[in-house]
Amino acid sequence: MAVDTALVWFRRDLRLHDNPTLDVAAGAGELLSVYCFDPREYGTVRFGGSDSFPFQKTGSHRARFRRESVADLRDSLREHDSDLLVAHEKPEDAIPALAEAVDADAVYFQTLPTSEESALERLVKTRLRERDVAAHSFWTHTLYHLDDLPTPYTQIDDTFTPFRKQVESSSAVREPLAVPSLPPSPSPSDSLDDIDALDDLDGGFDALPTLADLGLDDRSVDDRGVLPFAGGESAALDRLETYVWEHDRLREYKQTRNGLLGADYSSKLSPWLNEGCLSPRYVKVEVDRYESERVANDSTYWLLFELAWRDFFQFQFQKHGDRFFSRGGIRNPDIDWQEDRDALGRWAAGETGIPFVDANMRELNRTGFMSNRGRQNVASFLANNLRVDWRWGAAYFETQLVDYDPCSNYGNWAYIAGVGNDSRDRYFNVVKQAKKYDSQAEYVKHWLPELSALPADRAHEPWTLSPEEQAKYGVHLGVDYPQPMVDVEASYEKLR
Ligand SMILES: Cc1cc2nc3c(=O)[nH]c(=O)nc-3n(C[C@H](O)[C@H](O)[C@H](O)COP(=O)(O)OP(=O)(O)OC[C@H]3O[C@@H](n4cnc5c(N)ncnc54)[C@H](O)[C@@H]3O)c2cc1C
Repeated sequence: MAVDTALVWFRRDLRLHDNPTLDVAAGAGELLSVYCFDPREYGTVRFGGSDSFPFQKTGSHRARFRRESVADLRDSLREHDSDLLVAHEKPEDAIPALAEAVDADAVYFQTLPTSEESALERLVKTRLRERDVAAHSFWTHTLYHLDDLPTPYTQIDDTFTPFRKQVESSSAVREPLAVPSLPPSPSPSDSLDDIDALDDLDGGFDALPTLADLGLDDRSVDDRGVLPFAGGESAALDRLETYVWEHDRLREYKQTRNGLLGADYSSKLSPWLNEGCLSPRYVKVEVDRYESERVANDSTYWLLFELAWRDFFQFQFQKHGDRFFSRGGIRNPDIDWQEDRDALGRWAAGETGIPFVDANMRELNRTGFMSNRGRQNVASFLANNLRVDWRWGAAYFETQLVDYDPCSNYGNWAYIAGVGNDSRDRYFNVVKQAKKYDSQAEYVKHWLPELSALPADRAHEPWTLSPEEQAKYGVHLGVDYPQPMVDVEASYEKLR
């Protein structure tokens, strides 16, 4: 039944297209939207309890992207004669206070599978109930809807292939929703300062916090990155249009997706998918249209295959909950994880002395992005060569990645560390991988210019250079570039 006044609390669904939450709320007589920059998301958190190291939950790259995404959403809502209030407050304080202030009958928001997000939802719901305000949540971020799985999520297969085959044969992807027409807002945002219920909130509702407000550095964009990754639904739709239609790269995605350099070896849609600027169902519609208007082949299917991986991890976390964040993961094999902070520090800084690992980590640090091939290799190096607690690496990614998602990140890390959804050995020999996927060493030289004079066959193994060769190429190991911290093959053999 339509309500008089609705409040939409935007979370990781920063879009107007195919947004079921907004679509339902738009049936109200009046509608107000709000986004909260939750201060806890930007602070330093003690990972793994009081005896472990503190890390920053959201680093500058993702905070910048998110800020731009919220600004774009606000612009779009204004173009639709609506508006977005932006608070730098805890949602459990801001949302109920605002609901009371505008006399909302109901609050609508996205539900997410991981425990911090769902605990927050429960708290907001409780506080709304205390004020007699209804709360409605919606599952909106996957290709297949949670309710459309062939089995209850508690019974989905823990291995990807059977899961994928089941959804492909027995589930349908729902049609994306159009942008709804929006009812007027209940009260102009500039009068909110006068409302008593909001007195306890110091941040107000009218300003996008700067990165400095969030306690972060405003880093300059490194133009060596694969894409500038502008945040927001508008940029997301532009990227999809460019990759699929203008540059016409979908037809060769399966062959290029293991690339390392350039904008178009893969779709680069992940940051927009994860902040909810882009609906995966809309991506599917575009893939279907491309298949009927241009070409249907392995590559066009493969993009949907990868979106099924994304879904798989969302449903896995829904099923297994916090077990995924434990050191033993969902399988708890007998592995002697090390708490070696020096090794973690060298890995994180891109100072391991293994060029393929270092180039990828420096790309991550400078841009917030790393290719899938790179992620697999640096994760394997930390977990399977150094045997450092894999969660430390995952937590480092959590800070840095522009496209961080808890399920995709911890799920993939657990997988590679051998504690997740696959019992097979997921070891990657980083030197062999480097020679295969960066045969001309263009990628390592792009991020490690100090190695640029080396011939391609030596750039992946600078430790093989004699003193004379080091002098000839101007690369003095231990001075211009680090000595390798381990022997790649021996370190893995030792741990088997
Ligand atoms: C250790 C590790 C950590 C990762 N952390 C994240 C993360 O925090 N967030 C994230 O979105 N992806 C993560 N991935 C998956 C993958 O690396 C990225 O999704 C991909 O590199 C993003 O680039 P793209 O959009 O060009 O991908 P494309 O190759 O164009 O794929 C299209 C989309 O499919 C999805 N996808 C592709 N591969 C995977 C995968 N293995 N798992 C889940 N979804 C996938 C993504 O949404 C991606 O945007 C991680 C992978 C590893 C190995």
